[in-house]
Amino acid sequence: MSIEERIREVEQKISAACERSGRSREDVQVIAVTKYVSLDTTKEAFRSGLAHLGENRWQDAQEKWFALSGDPELPEENRPVWHFIGSLQTNKVKDVIGRFTYIHSLDRLSLAEAIHKKASQLGIVVPCFIQVNVSGEESKHGLRPEELEPFLEKLSVYPSVSPIGLMTMAPYESEPEETRVVFRALRELRDGVRGRSPYGERLEHLSMGMSNDFEVAIEEGATWIRLGTILVGKEEES
Ligand SMILES: *Cc1c(COP(=O)(O)O)cnc(C)c1O
Repeated sequence: MSIEERIREVEQKISAACERSGRSREDVQVIAVTKYVSLDTTKEAFRSGLAHLGENRWQDAQEKWFALSGDPELPEENRPVWHFIGSLQTNKVKDVIGRFTYIHSLDRLSLAEAIHKKASQLGIVVPCFIQVNVSGEESKHGLRPEELEPFLEKLSVYPSVSPIGLMTMAPYESEPEETRVVFRALRELRDGVRGRSPYGERLEHLSMGMSNDFEVAIEEGATWIRLGTILVGKEEES
């Protein structure tokens, strides 16, 4: 299947999920996760209109980043918007900040401090999603839900880090409906913190939903979905 065909199919599913839940299509943004595909496929995805690209390791992303965004003469509208969605090691912050617009995996203060330091050198503010481990799976990164409010309070000393929402990953379920509790819990966590904490007001967004479960995530309020396999495919390592 061509990328254009995949986009059309996914688009129909997104629209249907929006309709079922009374949401507007414009409130859901798509990140094309290119970690499983080659540079050529990534270029094709971008040319086909997928403007937001997600990667989860700098080592794997850099060839693509330099090919698509490395030319300083390139006008803004001809560049992808990069999202860093994987766990971010502190020693990679210097490579990632300034290149990736959004960070989806803020999960500790030491990382916030490192991002703040690099961002203030560059004179930028970095929009970040705070990753929350809602499902409690040991293999998943992220704060425990009850750690969110104290974390937000402490984050206020790093003004170059701008928390814009929450991110989570649901466990893989063969029956996607079973992920609903996870996505609903993330939304309720955001709503609660927004209502209560002076630091929670900016938490507008929910980054949740992947190939297997994005329709449920949309129904539960996702504003950013991260799609790899279903949208750009998965290629074998060459
Ligand atoms: C790989 C990855 C995705 C995309 O996964 P698919 O199931 O292929 O859609 C989304 N989010 C994160 C954090 C990922 O690591």
